[in-house]
Amino acid sequence: MCRVRLDPHSYADDEQPQTRAIDLALRADFQKRTLEGEIALHFREAGAGIIDFDTRELRIDAVTALDGAPLAYELQAPDSILGARLRVTLPAGARGLRIRYGTSPSASALQWLEPSQTAGKEPFLFSQCQPIHARSLAPLQDTPRIRITVGTARFKVPSRLRTLMAAAAKGREDGGGGEAVDVFEMPQPIPSYLLAFAVGDLERRELSHRTAVWAERPVVDAAAYEFAETEAMIRAAEALFGPYEWDRYDVLVMPPSFPFGGMENPRLTFVTPSVLAGDRSLVSVIAHEAAHAWTGNLVTNANLNHFWLNEGFTVYAERRILEALEGRDSAELHAASGRHDLAAALDRLAARPKLTCLRTDLRGIDPDEAYSSVPYEKGYLLLRKLEETAGRPAWDAFMRSYLGRFRFQSITTDRFLEFLEAQLPGVAAKAGTLAYIDGPGVPAGAPEPRSTRLDQLRLGEVEPRNPTELLVVLQSTPPDAEKLRALDARWGLSQRRSLELRHNFVLLQIRAGMPDAVDAARRVLLETGRMRYLRPIYTALARRDPAAARRIYQEARAGYHNIARTVVEAVLKEQGAER
Ligand SMILES: [Zn+2]
Repeated sequence: MCRVRLDPHSYADDEQPQTRAIDLALRADFQKRTLEGEIALHFREAGAGIIDFDTRELRIDAVTALDGAPLAYELQAPDSILGARLRVTLPAGARGLRIRYGTSPSASALQWLEPSQTAGKEPFLFSQCQPIHARSLAPLQDTPRIRITVGTARFKVPSRLRTLMAAAAKGREDGGGGEAVDVFEMPQPIPSYLLAFAVGDLERRELSHRTAVWAERPVVDAAAYEFAETEAMIRAAEALFGPYEWDRYDVLVMPPSFPFGGMENPRLTFVTPSVLAGDRSLVSVIAHEAAHAWTGNLVTNANLNHFWLNEGFTVYAERRILEALEGRDSAELHAASGRHDLAAALDRLAARPKLTCLRTDLRGIDPDEAYSSVPYEKGYLLLRKLEETAGRPAWDAFMRSYLGRFRFQSITTDRFLEFLEAQLPGVAAKAGTLAYIDGPGVPAGAPEPRSTRLDQLRLGEVEPRNPTELLVVLQSTPPDAEKLRALDARWGLSQRRSLELRHNFVLLQIRAGMPDAVDAARRVLLETGRMRYLRPIYTALARRDPAAARRIYQEARAGYHNIARTVVEAVLKEQGAER
C-alpha cells in the first residue's frame, strides 16, 4: 500500500481516524519552562489499528484509551522539519484516546519571557502555532485539513497571572498552592494552527459590546486608544462578507518579541506592540486580522501549498474594509505600499522562482523559511484582477457565496478554481488566473494601484498629510544621503515611533552608506522582534557591513522568538555573514 500524504507537513493519514474534538489540561511551569499535562482526542468515527500523530520535542509519558487502559505506542526518530511521528495502536471500536506528556523548554510554539522582557515586568508566556508548531505544544493531527473543537481546556498558572485563550472563557477555579486554573471551550471547529493562548499580567478595556483589547497594564490604555475603530472594522467586514461567526472579537497586545504583525487567532487576535504608533496609522493590521475571521479562519487552506487562499484573500478583504472606512485613495495607498513589499520579496527570492508562484510545492521545505509577502500581495493582485474582470457587483456576490459554501472547511486551490468556474464561467481564463497560480513573478497586465493622490505624492507635487502618505513618499525616495537628511529634518523620520516609517528610513540610510545607519539599525533590531522589520534590515546590513549584522544579532538574539531566529540566521547565512 502506498498512500499519498495529503499535507506535506503532517504525518496525518487520510485512512486513519480523524480527530473531531480535544480536551486539554496543562500546568505552566515558569521555572522549568514546560507545560505538563494531558490531551484527550475524540474521533469523528470509531476506529481501530494504527493512528499517527505529529509531535515535536515532546516527552510522552503514557497513552491510554479513554477509559484508562494502556495502549501500545512508538515515538519515532524526529525529522528536522516535521518533528517525530507518534504511532499508536488502537483497539477495535476506539472513539478516542488520552496522552500524558510534557513540552520541551525549547518548544517551537512557545516563548517564555523573563520579567525584564515585558512591559509590566512580570513573566509572560505565549503560543504561536502557525504554521506547524502546534505539534510542539501537544501531540495531534497537525494539519489544517482536520478541524477540531475544544471541549474543555484547563490551564493551571500562578494565580497572579491570567490565561487568555483564543476560545470562550469559562471562568477560573482555585488551583491551590498559589495557583489558579483558567477554563475555556472552543465550540467552532478550527484547524490546529489556530490553537492559541497567552499567560501574563493582563488587563482589559472594552471597545464595544463584542470587542475588547487586552494588554499588559502599562500598555492597555494606549492600546484602547489605538484600536478604537475595531468595531467599525467588524461592521464593515460584515456588510461585505456576511455575519461574524465567532461571537467575540478581542485583541491581545503581545510583548515586543512577537514575530508577526498579527496572528488571527479566532476570537482573540494577537498583535505586535509595534503598531501602537500613537496616531492610529497602523491599524490596517487589525483590518487584516479581523478579515481573517472570514478568509482563513472560516475558509481555510487545506495545507501550506495553498497558503495564498488564506493570505491573498485576507489582504484583498483588508483593503476592501479600508476602502469602506477611509475611501478609495487610502486603500490605493495601502495597495501601493504592498506592491513595494512584493517587489522586495521577488528580489529576495530571485534564485527560488518556484516560491514566487501562488500554488507551491513545499515538500521538504520548512514553511517558516519559505514565508514571504508573495502569497499575500501576489494573491491580492490576482483577486483584484478577478474583481476587475468580473465587475465588482458580480465579484462581491461571488465572494459571499464562496465564503458561505466553504464555511468551516479547508480547501485546495483546485477546489477554489472549480467553484469560481461554476459561479463565474470564463472569468478565470480571461483574467489569466493560472499565470498567477502556477507561474513565477508578477504576470503582465497585473493591476497597478492608482489614484491622483498617489501620483502627486510620488512626483513630489503635494506634501504628505498622514503617515501612510509619508510612507509612500519614503518608498519612492532614492538612497541619497543629502535627500535623506533633508527628509529627516522635515519629518523627523529617525525619531518616529512608527517602525513602519523608521525601518524604511533605516533601510535607505544603510543603502546610502550613511555613517549613523548602523546605530539606527541597531536601535530598531533591539526594539522589536517583528520579522517584517528584522528581515529587510538584517539583509541590507549583512550586505553592507556583515560584522555589524553579526554583532547586533548576538546582542538581540535572546529577545527574539524561535521563528525569528530561524529567519535571521537564514538571512545571515545567505549573505555570508555567519560566524
Ligand atoms: Zn494574514
